[in-house]
Amino acid sequence: MGLVMAENITKEYHSGEVTVRALKGASFNIEPGSFVSFVGPSGSGKTTLLNLIGCLDKLSAGRLLVAGMDVSSFGKKDSAIFRGKNIGFIFQDFNLIPVLTVFENIEYPLLMVQNASPGDRKKRVMSLLDAVGMAEQKDKYPDQISGGQKQRVAVARALVTNPKLVLADEPTANLDHKTAYMVIELMKKMRDDFQTTFIFSTHDQKIVGEAEILYMMEDGELVGKQMKGGEEHV
Ligand code: ADP
Ligand code: MG
Repeated sequence: MGLVMAENITKEYHSGEVTVRALKGASFNIEPGSFVSFVGPSGSGKTTLLNLIGCLDKLSAGRLLVAGMDVSSFGKKDSAIFRGKNIGFIFQDFNLIPVLTVFENIEYPLLMVQNASPGDRKKRVMSLLDAVGMAEQKDKYPDQISGGQKQRVAVARALVTNPKLVLADEPTANLDHKTAYMVIELMKKMRDDFQTTFIFSTHDQKIVGEAEILYMMEDGELVGKQMKGGEEHV
């Protein structure tokens, strides 16, 4: 069974008299362990789609299953619990907490959602620090490390609770090309090492080739699907 199964999902935003159809009926199926990208220009609906998968927003219509759960039926509290257990997030602007060290930033989700002892937390954080190559920087604060290093910390933070799925909305938009490429490679290595499914969005043509499955978005619609080594249309 797919880890994410979407049937004709739509999202409309209403503000006053105006309705914006941000997502116009998308259907797709993402298998566990995939490395998937949604690519499209600004305004094509990438963030809307990732927010639905991440249970940060509600569908207007359609059906969406994540890890076997029908997330469209969730209330706010269910969504929060589900996210804490199943989903890690990586953001365009890193979203590290400036007053916490690298170590403490990665530890933070463990304090929020899991009842681990300080010893277990330390072990877990140290293994993630090693995995992303940031162990030596563990006592630094976010403003003492580079953008690429911040995103490495964010990758570790997203993985620390051992989620089934990591969602990354334009994770490389604030990075130069070489650093962007390294962050995508790191995400792929984490997928290989931990079998975590990664879904990221981008409008950067230079890194889309790194995805194994690529969904093209335009104006709220999925307009194509490319797999490494072949092409098909949705
Ligand atoms: P992308 O991430 O690809 O840039 P978005 O998902 O952010 O695209 O936006 C898709 C469309 O939905 C755009 O037309 C955008 O203006 C609109 N939109 C996004 N969020 C809102 C909102 N909260 N209220 C109204 N319109 C929105
Ligand atoms: Mg966006």
